[in-house]
Amino acid sequence: CRCLTSSLQQSTFLSVATVQFSFTAFTLNEYVFMVQARGIQIRENVKNIGVQVLEQVVRGAYSNNGTDYPYDFNMSESDAPPTTYLPEGFTYLPSQVCPEKLPSMKGRLEVNMSEVSLEEVERSLLEEEPSMASGGYWRPKDCLPRWKVAILVPFRNRHEHLPILLRHLVPVLQKQRLQFAFYVIEQMGTEPFNRAMLFNVGFKEAMKDLNWDCLVFHDVDHLMENDRNYYGCTDMPRHFAVKLDKYSYMLPYNEFFGGVSGLTVKQFKKINGFPNAFWGWGGEDDDLWNRVQFASYTVSRPHGDQGRYMSIQHHHRGEVQFLGRYSLLRHSKERQKLDGLNNLNYSPLVSRRPLYTNITVSLSRKLAPIADY
Ligand code: UDP
Ligand code: MN
Repeated sequence: CRCLTSSLQQSTFLSVATVQFSFTAFTLNEYVFMVQARGIQIRENVKNIGVQVLEQVVRGAYSNNGTDYPYDFNMSESDAPPTTYLPEGFTYLPSQVCPEKLPSMKGRLEVNMSEVSLEEVERSLLEEEPSMASGGYWRPKDCLPRWKVAILVPFRNRHEHLPILLRHLVPVLQKQRLQFAFYVIEQMGTEPFNRAMLFNVGFKEAMKDLNWDCLVFHDVDHLMENDRNYYGCTDMPRHFAVKLDKYSYMLPYNEFFGGVSGLTVKQFKKINGFPNAFWGWGGEDDDLWNRVQFASYTVSRPHGDQGRYMSIQHHHRGEVQFLGRYSLLRHSKERQKLDGLNNLNYSPLVSRRPLYTNITVSLSRKLAPIADY
């Protein structure tokens, strides 16, 4: 985030919300017209239901969603595309690639933020799905997974958040029929937190396990509210966390790339990973956005309410803001080829837990040498 502080930002959003509302208020006539138009549209749709529609649904559900709609600030639910999720009871073969829009993906999710122990979550998830292997590794048996996704979670001193995230996310990824495992990259030592460098470490370590093709960079305190927010990758880098409760469910600014994002391994290598030079809170996600642009990518986003998230409330326990982020961001381009995956050294401690691989690492500036910018 390039904002000054989270709380200052929140109040700005509220005022933006008010302004937008007054712009989008309708006159009574316009409203009546919209209601009538909607009625006609529904009657038309009913006429069209038949074999052809089902075929379209099936085809749509298998298609890659890389051709998503570009994100539009003013997009309302009435502009939502036709639902092309597969019908209940639809069957597919173990030899087929898993559909992307499964009937089990119902949309709105309950979000349970109550505290729970890691042991309790391990026990209940394994009871539910005994085929989960160590490190939270799972793959579907009834179809061929479309993506092999490594979920990377940067971590320090948020022990109460992690089980809540796992309890919420593991069943969703199973419903989405993705192959996945979790990597929690924990920063040791006294240096300011470096979210971006932890992601670089997590990427390098995860690739030693398996030939992952998709990476999801996931804050520990973000809980998705819609299980149609598909955690596979797209032909463009993806920003998943579009509408956050803490930002009044509005994208704070078009270049916002924080919270949860996803890149294919190919895309991530091409941009030289995350920057290592952001120590403390803020800016590293904006630098990633810049890197993506300089590599001639555009960012794709889930449509409408699919990108909604609730965040677990937390305090910044003595974590420092990174005040140097604005000057670093002015030189994103020059730093991109000098700082990232290619100048990173570290010595990790890797251990497996039932639901995630823990990578503990002590970070310092000398591990990612770069001439000053
Ligand atoms: N984080 C962490 N410990 C910290 C700071 C950050 O584990 O002391 C991780 C955690 O995954 C968190 C993410 O980095 O969700 C982003 O940090 P934070 O939640 O403080 O950012 P904010 O919500 O204020 O944007
Ligand atoms: Mn947070």
